[in-house]
Amino acid sequence: MRPTGPLHLGNLHGALANWINMQEEYDCFFFIADWHALTSDYEDTRFISKFIRDMMIDWLSTGLSNEKSTLFVQSQIKEHAELFLILSMITPVPWLERNPTFKDQVVQMSNKDLSTFGFLGYPVLQAADIIMYKAEGVPVGVDQVPHVEITREIARRFNHFYGKVFPEPKAFLTETPKILGIDRRKMSKSYDNAIYLSDSPDVIASKVAGMFTDPQRLRKTDPGNPDVCNVFEFHKIYSNSETVDTINHDCRNAKLGCVECKKMMAQNLIKGLEPIREKREYYETRAQLVDDIILDGCNKARKVARMTMEEVRSAAKLE
Ligand code: SF4
Repeated sequence: MRPTGPLHLGNLHGALANWINMQEEYDCFFFIADWHALTSDYEDTRFISKFIRDMMIDWLSTGLSNEKSTLFVQSQIKEHAELFLILSMITPVPWLERNPTFKDQVVQMSNKDLSTFGFLGYPVLQAADIIMYKAEGVPVGVDQVPHVEITREIARRFNHFYGKVFPEPKAFLTETPKILGIDRRKMSKSYDNAIYLSDSPDVIASKVAGMFTDPQRLRKTDPGNPDVCNVFEFHKIYSNSETVDTINHDCRNAKLGCVECKKMMAQNLIKGLEPIREKREYYETRAQLVDDIILDGCNKARKVARMTMEEVRSAAKLE
């Protein structure tokens, strides 16, 4: 996860919630991808170290566990850079140019100069990040599948030239709830439409009050359609099933107004985020503990990375 700012509910339900479950079943490596943050945000790096610590606090507060998983910071494991360099030697440029995310982001982020070598090559760094730990799988959404495919191709090409060192990782596709930002666009820091894990109850209540609902519903006397309403998606996560059923019925029959519905949702959301808020407060006042957790995770990751790089150098006759 790139440390480009505070985490929001889109990050929580789009990725973290799934990671937290995965820890029970798999030996997981989760890292804060600070080098990847540079691929698009290279001009102003003043806040990276703050974002790294904030991200680790968010992770720990939501339930990622440094005892169950290896939680580390990418740039602290220099082996990633060495593997990236070796893999970049064998990766054909057309593989990178056809990466759909690359084309998409160049258009979407037209306010940034993304004509850099690092941006074109970020899937190679991603491949290094993944195969360094001989990952069997990578939890991704559908839009990220092409990245895992490039990683598989790069691993295969390395194995073809130098002998089998790497397994080809699979995409572990994850279903995520379709929660959007308060303006019904994708929840994103850059759209200024996100509810952050660090938002206070007052801020959450005011953001929820401003949320877009069923666009066809203008008055309380109009029957609504919860299926197209973002507020209802939040209810499905944060309210109990009885409440969800009642809202579903009352909205469709024009018995419930959006203002009231949003108030209920805000209350349940604030309550649902309460344990995260409490843990955040705990870690925020214990900077040394967070630093120690990061250091410990980096040490664990480095051990594995060093072993892999010994194999890589030996296979590629670079000893
Ligand atoms: S009543 Fe609730 S579910 Fe129905 S449109 Fe309004 S906010 Fe959405």
